[in-house]
Amino acid sequence: MRTPESRNGTACRFCKAPLSHTFVDLGMSPLCESYRNAGQLNQMEPFYPLHVYVCGDCFLVQLEEFVPPEEIFTEYAYFSSYSDSWLSHARTYVEMVTSRFGLSGNSFVVELASNDGYLLQYFVEKRIPVLGVEPAANVAAAAVSKGVPTLVKFFGERTARDLVSQGTLADLIVGNNVLAQVPDLNDFVRGMKLLLKPGGVITVEFPHLLRLIEENQFDTIYHEHFSYFSFRTAERVFAEHGLVLFDVEEIPTHGGSLRIYGCHAEDGSKGVSDAVRQLKEVEVAFGLANLERYASFGENVKETKRKLLEFLIRAKRERKRISGYGAPGKGNTLLNYCGIRTDFIDFTVDRNPYKQGKFLPGTHIPIYSPEKIRQERPDYVLIMPWNFQDEILRQLGYIREWGGKFVVFIPEVTVIS
Ligand SMILES: [Zn+2]
Repeated sequence: MRTPESRNGTACRFCKAPLSHTFVDLGMSPLCESYRNAGQLNQMEPFYPLHVYVCGDCFLVQLEEFVPPEEIFTEYAYFSSYSDSWLSHARTYVEMVTSRFGLSGNSFVVELASNDGYLLQYFVEKRIPVLGVEPAANVAAAAVSKGVPTLVKFFGERTARDLVSQGTLADLIVGNNVLAQVPDLNDFVRGMKLLLKPGGVITVEFPHLLRLIEENQFDTIYHEHFSYFSFRTAERVFAEHGLVLFDVEEIPTHGGSLRIYGCHAEDGSKGVSDAVRQLKEVEVAFGLANLERYASFGENVKETKRKLLEFLIRAKRERKRISGYGAPGKGNTLLNYCGIRTDFIDFTVDRNPYKQGKFLPGTHIPIYSPEKIRQERPDYVLIMPWNFQDEILRQLGYIREWGGKFVVFIPEVTVIS
């Protein structure tokens, strides 16, 4: 663990304790969603430190905020609806939560960071009133066009107060994969407390820090993800704002996530489940209350880089051709940290037309539509969004026609023929 002098004075995003313990240092990296077009390839490109700290007091794993969220999230390239398995996850969730909490046409559901309406559309089908809150105008427009009312705003105390003053209170507040992206964590959770009806429920999904450490998922770290949570730390953050986490589920999305259930601390109608007690015990046994456990992660990441480069160097010496599949944020952290450019990977492909014809940030690997794989017949296809691995293996099964194989890098290099 080291403390760069430049860090003096930086405080924990949640508890304000000074940050001095390194979780992992991934060097300098561009913003992972800042895809380049051809005209930008010869221009300067901003790189920012990807140095992750763990708070010695509350154990919140976090990055310093280098770029205002307005720059990252106002035109966002990620459209949730381009993933079949994510849509199916959303549909299953809507069925479950509607039945568990008896939601009806008299209820009101608010989703924070509602993206292109991928989830709220299923409540709309059930005639349950909804509102999406989404700061990226381009994805919000896609939501509105499919009948999902969407407010183009960042969520926090101010937006919550505006909604409450117009008479809006939520029976259900949904926040999937947004907590990590919130620069002012306390303001965001305070907003949820204000917007929640008495007796209402909050569900929030986020990648579980325990799984990130256990499965070596360092590529899920990028500038847009400011915070990485254990259940214990999330519980402490919600408690600070008068919210109790009364239940939790471990779900498979994003390599292992938690879905937490919150309610007002004053709401006596919801007992805390055994799952909550058990998970906290698991986290303590894993070492998440112990700084040494966090510090060991950085060494695993370095060894992963060495193994991955070994694989690529060997493959290129054998004159193999390697393409990527997908252009997700997580691919960009991995490629930039490991220094993998077109010297190893000829091109990548993505189903999202917004990314096609562009180049990956930093590494400038070109992005094509998926048909390019059929034309070029690479020997290896590197699956960058490994969390959608099963879906991609099904879609791309045809590469076996020419003896093509799949490669996944996380948790370690694995060839799938
Ligand atoms: Zn802290």
